[in-house]
Order: sequence, then structure tokens, then C-alpha cells
Amino acid sequence: MATRTLESRFERMSVTDENDPGDGGKTFLKSKQTSTAVTSSQLAQNSGRANLLKIALQNQNTTSTIITVPSQAAQWRASTAGSRTSEEAARIDRKSNQIYQQPVVKQFHLGMFEIGRPLGKGKFGRVYLARERSSGFVCALKVLMKNEIQQGKVEKQVRREIEIQSNLRHPNVLQLYGHFHDSSRIFLILEFAGKGELYKHLRKENRFPEWKAAQYIAQMAAALKYLHKKHVMHRDIKPENILVGIHGELKISDFGWSVHAPNNRRNTMCGTLDYLPPEMIKPGAQDNYYTEKVDLWSLGVLTYEFLVGEAPFEDTPVMTQRRIARGEMTVPNFVSPEAKDLIRRLLVLDPEKRIPLEQVQKHPWIIKHCVKGERASMRDSKSTGNKFSSASTDLG
Ligand code: ATP
Ligand code: MG
Repeated sequence: MATRTLESRFERMSVTDENDPGDGGKTFLKSKQTSTAVTSSQLAQNSGRANLLKIALQNQNTTSTIITVPSQAAQWRASTAGSRTSEEAARIDRKSNQIYQQPVVKQFHLGMFEIGRPLGKGKFGRVYLARERSSGFVCALKVLMKNEIQQGKVEKQVRREIEIQSNLRHPNVLQLYGHFHDSSRIFLILEFAGKGELYKHLRKENRFPEWKAAQYIAQMAAALKYLHKKHVMHRDIKPENILVGIHGELKISDFGWSVHAPNNRRNTMCGTLDYLPPEMIKPGAQDNYYTEKVDLWSLGVLTYEFLVGEAPFEDTPVMTQRRIARGEMTVPNFVSPEAKDLIRRLLVLDPEKRIPLEQVQKHPWIIKHCVKGERASMRDSKSTGNKFSSASTDLG
């Protein structure tokens, strides 16, 4: 059913775009002072997010519902602190009434966005910083080439990525606000993660101090608890798939593989087996054999890698596989006993015996570094000189 809905959504989508150069995306990059675009639009971010979300909702819900919300002009005025004339405001108000308070289906198209600097390049797409023109909302626009997706035979994964991610709302899950396409490209409108890839931070710092690792793991546990409640298992948790928000908070991304056996992906695309749980590398393991407990194993690998700087089973591919199957790893002595305990409770061969997420959130190591009402990082920074703006650590 989900796939059918998505396909019909693709069918409906507007393909006309006055800004579409029709050159396969090579020249549509119109860099417009991107860095100032981000800073000056920070104020507009909240109202912009509401607008974008609203459009996203309208996109998902094609029934003719009138959504009554604070007018865009009011939000714009609030965010620009009176820099508009009343005439301009009235004009925007009229426009917003047309857009938001009438029973129309608002559809995204490329012309609605200013495109900024490239943020990165994936196997099938490029990601650009972007700004929705009417609200000033800053987001990331992921551009996927349809022919590459077809050649790579990943249509199904892309559909899943869109289906799954657009239904998720959590501070530690990268949000997908909406999507649209033209004749050659699919565009995903994503939440902008201002501090980029966690993987790069980890490589730069080599390993994280315990307070930071604990706060990160608490955020991951909160996000995974939310996903599992929604019956989504990520199955590809690793630092490369985690982005960092502007306040240092973690954002799980890359849902394209969340219901796709990651062992294929790792063997063929990434060449790393490090995060695979034992039940997935067992010979003859079926896709439907896994449960959401696979993410608990990966959380254990992540905890280890955050604290040690390398994955626990890192070795030659054959040896890694063998060591995972046997659960063979040693935690170095510089890791605290509490952290060791959590790693050992997560990296358990029997999926049923892994510590559940509720208990991860209450684990002494997490509690020690994520005390509510007090910033563990601040306590720590007094002694170590470390500065870290405590991220939203939802232990609830
Ligand atoms: P793959 O295609 O195999 O998933 P990937 O994860 O590297 O590879 P993308 O998800 O397309 O590919 O992203 C490419 C890069 O762009 C990321 O590694 C990241 O650096 C950057 N990026 C992607 N999305 C965002 C975002 N929402 N905010 C900030 N940067 C992003
Ligand atoms: Mg990715």
C-alpha cells in the first residue's frame, strides 16, 4: 500500500519548473551568499519550519482541508523585526492567504528554493544547502538523478527512504519535509544538519570524552526507541549515517537502507562489516530473520567506537566476521567500568538478551553524564577545559 501511495504521489507531482535548466542539474546551482543566507535566516527558521511542515502536510494530505494558521506575513514580520513596510506585509498576507488558507494542494518545485553551496555527495545524489524563498527557511536539498537510481536498481530504497523518513518526527532523527521531482531528478527536502557528519568529528577528535559519548548514546537511544515504537528498524547505524545539528545534537539519517539488508550494502559499497550484528552474518540468514534488536548491537559498536576511536571487531573482513560471530572483543582499560558494562550488555550474541533501550537510558553511565537539569558537559568542562553545548538529551 505504502508503495502505491508513493507512486501515485510521484504521478501527481508538478514537473513544470521555470528554474529548471533541463541539463541534469549541472547549472541550477545559483550560489547566493550562502553563508549569510544561513545566519540571517536563523530567525526565520522557526516560522519557516512551520510553513514548510505545513506544505509538507498538505502534500501528504490531498483532501481539501483549510488549514488556518498564523499568516505568513505575521510570521515573516516576527522574524524580520519590522523591516517590512505595512504595504509589503499586506501583500505577503494576501499571498499567504492564497497559499495557506485556501483549499489548494501546495506542491513543491525547484523554483521555490534558492540553492546554495554543495554540502556533500553521496553514491546517488548531491546535497545542497537551500532556502525556501517565501519563508527564508534553510534546509538541505538532496538531488537524486533518476537514471542513476534506475541503473543502480535502488528505486525501491529511494521510495522507502521517502516513505519512512517523511513519517518521522524526532529531534534526533533527520527530518524529511517533502519531496518533488522533474523529468530527470528527484529532490528530497531535508532538515539541514549544520555541523555535518558525525564521522568527521570522530576522525578529527580520534575519540570522544566519556561525557560526550554518553550524551550522544543517550540521544541515539532516544531516537532508536522512537523508531522502534514506529516499527522502523534502522539497520545501518554507524557514524557515517549520523549528522550533527547546529547545537551539537545528533540526527540519524540515511533511511534508504533501513529495511534493506545492510550486509549487501556493506559488501558491495562500503566494504565494512564492522557494525553488522551476528544474526545478520550467520550463513543463510534471511532478511526477515532480523528484529529491531539489530540496532542494539550497532549501538554497542557505536558506543565502543565513540570511546575507543575504532570499531570493536575491526580486522580483515574474514576475521571481522569470525570475531563478530563469536562476540570477540576487548575494551581497553582507559574506558570507565560503567561504559564497559553498557558495551558488554549491548554486544550480546543472543539478540533477546541485549539490554533494552529503556534500560540503556537508565544505565549508570548514561545517568552519570546526562543528569537532567544540569549540564554534565559543563561539569566536565570545568576540569578538562572542554566546551560542548549540551544537546537535547531526552531521557524520558
Ligand atoms: P549514500 O548515498 O551512500 O547514502 P551519503 O550518505 O554520503 O552516501 P548523502 O546522504 O546523499 O550520501 O549525503 C552526502 C553528504 O552530504 C553527506 O555525507 C553529508 O556530508 C552531506 N549531507 C547530506 N544531508 C545533509 C543534511 N541534511 N545536512 C547537512 N549535510 C548533509
Ligand atoms: Mg547517506
